[in-house]
Amino acid sequence: MIAKSVIKKIQRIVGKENVRSEPEERVCYSYDATNQIYLPDIVVFTARVSEVSDILKLANEEGFPVIPRGAGSGFTGGALPVKGGLVLVMTRFNRILKIDTENLTAFVEPGVVTGDFQKEVERLGLFYPPDPASLKFSTLGGNVAECAGGPRAIKYGVTKDYVIGLEVVLPTGEIISTGVQTMKGVVGYDLTKLIVGSEGTLGVITKIIVKLIPLPADRKTIQAIYNRLEDAATTVAGIIASKILPAALEFMDRGAIICVEDFLRIGLPVDAEAILLVEVDGDPHVVTKDAGKIQDICSKCGANRVEIAGDRESEENLWKARRAISPSLLRINPAKINEDITVPRSKIPDILRKINHIAKRSGLNIVNFGHAGDGNIHGNIMIDKNKEEEVNRAEAAVREIFQATLDLGGTISGEHGIGITKAPYLKMELGDLGVDIMQRVKKVFDPNGILNPGKIFQS
Ligand SMILES: Cc1cc2nc3c(=O)[nH]c(=O)nc-3n(C[C@H](O)[C@H](O)[C@H](O)COP(=O)(O)OP(=O)(O)OC[C@H]3O[C@@H](n4cnc5c(N)ncnc54)[C@H](O)[C@@H]3O)c2cc1C
Repeated sequence: MIAKSVIKKIQRIVGKENVRSEPEERVCYSYDATNQIYLPDIVVFTARVSEVSDILKLANEEGFPVIPRGAGSGFTGGALPVKGGLVLVMTRFNRILKIDTENLTAFVEPGVVTGDFQKEVERLGLFYPPDPASLKFSTLGGNVAECAGGPRAIKYGVTKDYVIGLEVVLPTGEIISTGVQTMKGVVGYDLTKLIVGSEGTLGVITKIIVKLIPLPADRKTIQAIYNRLEDAATTVAGIIASKILPAALEFMDRGAIICVEDFLRIGLPVDAEAILLVEVDGDPHVVTKDAGKIQDICSKCGANRVEIAGDRESEENLWKARRAISPSLLRINPAKINEDITVPRSKIPDILRKINHIAKRSGLNIVNFGHAGDGNIHGNIMIDKNKEEEVNRAEAAVREIFQATLDLGGTISGEHGIGITKAPYLKMELGDLGVDIMQRVKKVFDPNGILNPGKIFQS
């Protein structure tokens, strides 16, 4: 518990109105998309770098944990106060400071919602591609801390490919600027890349500098429907091998299709085994040519229906279905275990076969969807968390899926991070030495372990 005398000091730093200790406020900031609940002692809303710095200095003096939080949409528990303490809500840092159309860069605060930023940038004919399915509510700070990715990663990369500089308040309260405002820069260690994806354990991000690219002139979305999952997997390999680089290449299996249709009622084919969504973008004539080629590949690989969205509205409907998968699965099973393994793209058919085999053998319902274009599969294990035996079976299945992923040359997390949910499996991928080196880095940044303790590493 944070002592009353310390709460008074915190109130003096940020103003009484920005400190909440009522139970109902604490409950609101006690969970994220993992649906696990940990009550913070207090919730603090900040909008100034000096406040963040003073809070962290006080946390070191008084020994309480500080947990940075954006929109709380993380899937691995990064924003959860697992050891109590102070949840530092960053959503008041919500200004787009500058969009530099001459240098194609932007300076933004971490509380800006990703989708809002993208709209502003696109109004100027520019493009910030990272597009997590949570873009309508997740914050750029959360995206940077998790190195979020999305469907466009296949062509445009993920958050780390766009962040060129940061302002960060270190756990000690010191304020540093990392990186550059230029397109190049190799001075010293790349602290920017170290902070990106550090899940709020190495510093509190207070400013982000990103690079932008020109907005593609045109785009088209193709939907292909399959009676056999293997045919969809073969199509993915076929598209990649054809040397067309789609802007997105997403897939959902039958379980995902049924869940979304049940949620949205938009006429998805519930008897199909898989749907592929492919987006191509670029110059209009190239887009038309590539869309036609992809249509052919889908048909040749066994799709029983292929259509190209005729206008922006039908295109948006197709993507609405894709973005609704996570919420619709959460709706029917809030306790589901959501994994985001990534394998080399050519190994997608192997890992899907393996997951289906594990599901059958362990009697579990595993719904799969994901970013097939970059090998990132979200396997969702639908469990009843009140049935201990089922939970144990699911945990054993997760370990088996992770091992199969690593055996295929993959990674246990493509975009959701480690947080608390994957911490028990960290050594499977990194080994003892890898984990030890990372813990030593954490110690350099945070000698007293006050910033987001209990995350990434098992404590
Ligand atoms: C429906 C749904 C769909 C999703 N789809 C995707 C997807 O396609 N791709 C993907 O990558 N993720 C996805 N996610 C996961 C999640 O949205 C992302 O991880 C997102 O980046 C989290 O942003 P947030 O603002 O909600 O951060 P939070 O959940 O609040 O925090 C996430 C982590 O960032 C840290 N953090 C937040 N702000 C700061 C800051 N200013 N400084 C330092 N650390 C900070 C927190 O401590 C925590 O460790 C999805 C989630 C949902 C619910």
